[in-house]
Amino acid sequence: MDQCTGIMLTTAPAHIITLLAVVRELRAGHALCELGEKHDGDHATMLWDEDAGPGGAVWARWDDRGVRITSLDRCPGVTADEENACGLFADHPAAHGWEVTDPTKEAISRELARNHPHLFPEYNEDDGG
Ligand SMILES: [Zn+2]
Ligand SMILES: [Zn+2]
Repeated sequence: MDQCTGIMLTTAPAHIITLLAVVRELRAGHALCELGEKHDGDHATMLWDEDAGPGGAVWARWDDRGVRITSLDRCPGVTADEENACGLFADHPAAHGWEVTDPTKEAISRELARNHPHLFPEYNEDDGG
């Protein structure tokens, strides 16, 4: 599943942008939604992880009307082999985090893998024939 293309532009309130800029790299004045494409409800991007306890993380949720900051429990989802945890919040819409791929990042990785195959063994496994 591709990642949602929801973008939060810097038309968000200034204090939100300040928060985002400190905690995450705010590139080109926007933050990208981390959920899977065509999800229900608000877009979401994690601001910071409250990793002191079992708790969760602080998320920015937004829609056409505005942005709100909210603390959400972590999604308990893990892959069957327990190699990957979801990374999203509990009861999130759409697919778990490990099922969501950023098509841009994916395209860049494939291009790099073509030039530096030894650095990206995971992209060469299905090139057997
Ligand atoms: Zn979204
Ligand atoms: Zn999940």
